[in-house]
Amino acid sequence: MIAPTIHCESAVRAIVFLLFVILVFLILKFTLNRVIEIRQRNREAEQKTDGKKPSDSDPQSMVRCAECGIHLPQSEAFYDGKDTFCSEGHMRDFHKKHGADRTFDDTSD
Ligand SMILES: [Zn+2]
Repeated sequence: MIAPTIHCESAVRAIVFLLFVILVFLILKFTLNRVIEIRQRNREAEQKTDGKKPSDSDPQSMVRCAECGIHLPQSEAFYDGKDTFCSEGHMRDFHKKHGADRTFDDTSD
C-alpha cells in the first residue's frame, strides 16, 4: 500500500514544478516587458532631443532696440555703427531725435 502514496507525491511535485516554471516564465515576461518599455521611452526621449532645433532662440545673439527697447535677434536688427534697432524706421526716428550731436545722453532707464 505504499505505491499509491509515492505516485500521489510525485504528481504533487510535478504540479508544484509546473507552477514554479509558470511563475518564472511570468516573472521573465514581466521583466522583459519592463525592459522593452524603458528602452522605448529612452528612444523617444533621444528622438525628442535630436529633433530640437537650437536655432529657435539663442539668448546670446539678442540685441536691444535703442529706440523702443524691444529685444530682437541680432540677425534681424538694424545696426547704424553704434546702436541697434528693431527696424529702419526706429533707426531714423532715433537719429532724428538725437540729431547729429548726441551730447545729451538721456539714458533714463
Ligand atoms: Zn524699435
